[in-house]
Amino acid sequence: MLTLETDIINITRVGAATAKKLKKLGIATARDLLFYFPFRYDDFTKVTPIKDLQAGSIANVVGQIDLLQNKRSPRRRMNITEALITDGTETLKVIWFNQPFIARILKVGDRVSLAGKVDEDYGSLTMNSPVYEKIYEISNAGGDSAVHTQGLVPNYHLTANLSHKQVRFLIKQVIGSVALVTDYLPDTVKKNAKLISLGEAIKNIHFPKDNNEIKKARERLAFDELFLVQLQSQLVKRNLELSLAPAIKFYEAETKTFVDSLPFKLTDAQRKAAWEILKDIEQGQPMSRLLEGDVGSGKTVVAVIAMLNVVLNGQQAVFMVPTEILARQHYETVSRLLAGFDVKTGLVTRTNKLMSNDKFPMTNQCQNLNDKKLKLDSAGIVEKADIIIGTQALIQDDIKFRDLGLAVIDEQHRFGVEQRKTLMEKSGAKLVPHLLSMTATPIPRSLALAMYGDLSLSVIDEMPKDRKKIITKVVPEEKRQLAYEFIREQIRAGRQVFVICPLIDISDKLGVKSVEEEYKKLDKIVFPEIAMGKLHGRLKSAEKEKIMSEFLAGKIKIIVATSVVEVGVDVPNASVMMIEGADRFGLAQLHQFRGRVGRSVHQSYCFLFTQLNSRQANLTGQASSQADKTLARLAALVKYHNGFELAKIDLKFRGPGEVYGLEQKGFPEFKMATLFDYDLMKKAREEAVKLIEIDPSLNSWSDLKEKLGEWERGVHLE
Ligand code: ADP
Ligand code: MG
Repeated sequence: MLTLETDIINITRVGAATAKKLKKLGIATARDLLFYFPFRYDDFTKVTPIKDLQAGSIANVVGQIDLLQNKRSPRRRMNITEALITDGTETLKVIWFNQPFIARILKVGDRVSLAGKVDEDYGSLTMNSPVYEKIYEISNAGGDSAVHTQGLVPNYHLTANLSHKQVRFLIKQVIGSVALVTDYLPDTVKKNAKLISLGEAIKNIHFPKDNNEIKKARERLAFDELFLVQLQSQLVKRNLELSLAPAIKFYEAETKTFVDSLPFKLTDAQRKAAWEILKDIEQGQPMSRLLEGDVGSGKTVVAVIAMLNVVLNGQQAVFMVPTEILARQHYETVSRLLAGFDVKTGLVTRTNKLMSNDKFPMTNQCQNLNDKKLKLDSAGIVEKADIIIGTQALIQDDIKFRDLGLAVIDEQHRFGVEQRKTLMEKSGAKLVPHLLSMTATPIPRSLALAMYGDLSLSVIDEMPKDRKKIITKVVPEEKRQLAYEFIREQIRAGRQVFVICPLIDISDKLGVKSVEEEYKKLDKIVFPEIAMGKLHGRLKSAEKEKIMSEFLAGKIKIIVATSVVEVGVDVPNASVMMIEGADRFGLAQLHQFRGRVGRSVHQSYCFLFTQLNSRQANLTGQASSQADKTLARLAALVKYHNGFELAKIDLKFRGPGEVYGLEQKGFPEFKMATLFDYDLMKKAREEAVKLIEIDPSLNSWSDLKEKLGEWERGVHLE
């Protein structure tokens, strides 16, 4: 009997290998499969007669196989399966690469349904590697039995070697179990917000009949996400109003000394944000404030001002960040900035436990910190240090602060609600510590308020004055060598360079550049004379750290990395951000990458390379539309330098029917809702407020209460 908890291994056709791949996607049970939502749909609602096919279009064709054969391509050492398909109007040539088994699955005379892109090959039309499906019977209604190649066909985010087809096949098998899913929304909420049931929404998101079904399904699923955020933030707000926090006195003279000691002048926006925070923590009520500012706007120093005041009040401050690299970097920055003060800084990550026991010299260069450190265990550091910087290692059981007055959470969206809560509960004192969350997700004030209930908000909406606009270029393949020359010159002039690649694995099919592959090429062939390093998730932390600190120290000139450098990394001397496979990233994410350069007076550059080959780009008419669209999308980065604007444009380009959720960071808790679901957000807020007014314990709706708990425990780290 299939239940929601049935292990995927017990589902037909899931072997150990497939199970392992599914686990990588976080899919372990039938329930996980049901909740693995597609991110877009291919519209194969119409079957196109072969004679009407157009090069460049994506189409569904149904016909009979007239010829089928395997060939070897001697030059490229590839196996090619060739087929001719006839539908009575015309014949179409179809080619599959390195899938010789197709010739065993299909045979001449079979009726097949094919879906894919139509290409032009020496003047005649072909389909290369289309998704195929044998049609077994034709029902009385005249419809075919196809699920992968006809109708609205969902696409899922997948890792290499898992196909949409496999995932759809598996979901099809478990879809019956939606009947077992608990619909935790109270009926009144569903009624007021005009929502369909959860089971129906899940069924229709995977197997929609038409666009309207997708819309209604999406609305329900997006509502749930927004509703949970609302419930949670309303409940937090209620709790805070009932609790007490330490009143942090403002040390004006010391703060001024600190600000004067900075190597730059604070922007007005930074001053204002710092002021708002200092005023807020002076009250005996716990602060819960979001500090929002685009990448590079200088949030860190604002947090340091707040932390300094907390320490001057004799209390501790903690600064939690999502990655080891960032923790290390913040530790060094904060220690350096506070060098003139008698403040002990500590670092607690999984692999690093350090504490400064001496004043740091004021300098802009990274120190060889190892000689000035006292090795301690985590418990010792959180007991003795005044400012503790660290990763989620800080929320382990044995950690207990002496007297926590303020918790700062950097890149807050990377942490789950439960993680934030746990950190706050580690305060040694009876009072609730103040909370400052920081994010670069650039959403307008009104939207942030609608989204997070009535939290306090400070916005840094101004960049430091010395910044020059980053020159952004989409670089065609022909100009790659010129770009390399340019990079060489920049390095000669003393600058440093980031190269970002989309994935670690070599995936021939997608032509995705991997870090390993790219590193080898650049290191051996392009820049043999230049010191390089690589950075990706599979390296040990110690290795990552060594590379990052060498890059910071200027020993390494070029760093080839995956998206690990996306958050927070601050290397002011870097002036070139080169991104391979740029079309594979969202615009907001590309904007985050770009934010890694242009962090000082040096003119900086962002070069975007795409996987589009020139053949694709050169095709005429409809054929080039996909390439054109991608190029136009990337060109938005050339023009716009504002994250929110870019997120909006991205959504427009890919269409709300195509991109659900903010896959490109910012709001990992949302798979379905987008920043632009303003009305839905308002509805969710209204309904949340109503429920809490009736019963703030939520005990009247036990299913909902359980769901909220589950949601809060959800970890948003990668
Ligand atoms: P983010 O808001 O992205 O976290 P950071 O706090 O890392 O930005 O600051 C980015 C860089 O700008 C750092 O090198 C920091 O020292 C520098 N910086 C911060 N404020 C100013 C300022 N007012 N003028 C010039 N540089 C500044
Ligand atoms: Mg930052």
